[in-house]
Amino acid sequence: MSTDKPSRTEEEYFTKRDLELLQQKRHQLEEEADRTDRQQHFMKCPKCGASLHPEEFHGVTIDRCPECDGFWLDRGEIDNLMTDTKPGLLGRVFGDLTAALRERKSDDR
Ligand SMILES: [Zn+2]
Repeated sequence: MSTDKPSRTEEEYFTKRDLELLQQKRHQLEEEADRTDRQQHFMKCPKCGASLHPEEFHGVTIDRCPECDGFWLDRGEIDNLMTDTKPGLLGRVFGDLTAALRERKSDDR
């Protein structure tokens, strides 16, 4: 005997499969949105949103915001500044950085 009506087992199978496909699709969309979000924020100032510009001081790269003068150091750059093999490097880098900021401010006038 055959009927057109799907059996309960078939319905459960397709419902479960649809749910899995929906979950996969949702996961893909979330990953895609996360990727896009990261791309849009890459090298942007977290304070004002302007594009950061990398500048090198004594071999240490500092990502500086031209709008609000905020700056960022990557993890390796912080380690580089704190190392004992280059005494006074921290002072030299920040001395030159603040001099560059003062120079920029006087150019703005
Ligand atoms: Zn900024």
